[in-house]
Amino acid sequence: MRLALMGSGGRMGVAVEAAAVALGVPIAVRIDRPGDPATPAGVWTGEPAEAIEPGMVVIEFTGAEGARQAAAACAARGAALVSGATGLAAADEAALRAAAERVAVLRASNFSLGLAALRVALRAAVARLPASWDIEVVERHHRQKRDSPSGTALTLADDLLAARGLTRAALRHGREGVIGARPAGEVGMHAVRGGTWVGDHEVLLAGEGECIELRHVVQDRAAFAHGAIAAARFVSTAAAGWYTIDDVFRGPGRP
Ligand code: NAD
Repeated sequence: MRLALMGSGGRMGVAVEAAAVALGVPIAVRIDRPGDPATPAGVWTGEPAEAIEPGMVVIEFTGAEGARQAAAACAARGAALVSGATGLAAADEAALRAAAERVAVLRASNFSLGLAALRVALRAAVARLPASWDIEVVERHHRQKRDSPSGTALTLADDLLAARGLTRAALRHGREGVIGARPAGEVGMHAVRGGTWVGDHEVLLAGEGECIELRHVVQDRAAFAHGAIAAARFVSTAAAGWYTIDDVFRGPGRP
């Protein structure tokens, strides 16, 4: 597997680099934007397609623009893509879907094994509870995070909405003022920002006189990075198409 790491100078890029060393997986190409201070030598800051070779696997932790560029470059060069940026608009998602018609593309808002387990637990819990139980999602992230709510909170919300037969119109992003009693069928979303939280997601299920709190806390970006490298191994042998992290954790090479 020949790996290219896009966003190599970022928080996740550094974590993927460390995980790759720990797992003995060499990174062949590092790609980032020109930085200030200067990007370190050996990091490609030009057009991504010029650094990506056919048959490579690109791991991307950049942003919406980077995800789009990675999708186009991978499709043009015949490289598989593991995409982790969050905060994507519909057009960015469409660019990734278009690439998946030509190469293997695996997209996940959260690459950690624990979050995958939380989603299973959550679906089971919601299936056992009446629809009268209220649902609130609380996420906490470091002060530098750009997008709110987090991609993972939206993934959890999508699972919960699907289980209840609701759409994203049911999401309630924070509350303020004299807004009256909580309507039924609302899913509350709360984005806490501060300090250095890596990724903390809590789902509250509140009934009459009782509640359930299901929470996943990432303490170290290594949790995401190891999942991303497992995903890279998965797509390195996968046919062109669209994959999710569930395909990795279900598959024979599961970490
Ligand atoms: P960061 O700001 O620390 O790093 C981003 C890096 O990408 C920077 O080095 C930046 O220069 C580079 N970059 C941005 N646009 C680029 C482009 N067009 N081409 C090349 N390089 C580009 O951010 P981070 O904390 O490392 O997070 C990166 C992304 O990954 C965010 O969207 C974040 O929400 C997401 N993320 C996803 C997961 C997951 O499991 N899917 C986990 C953590 C973070």
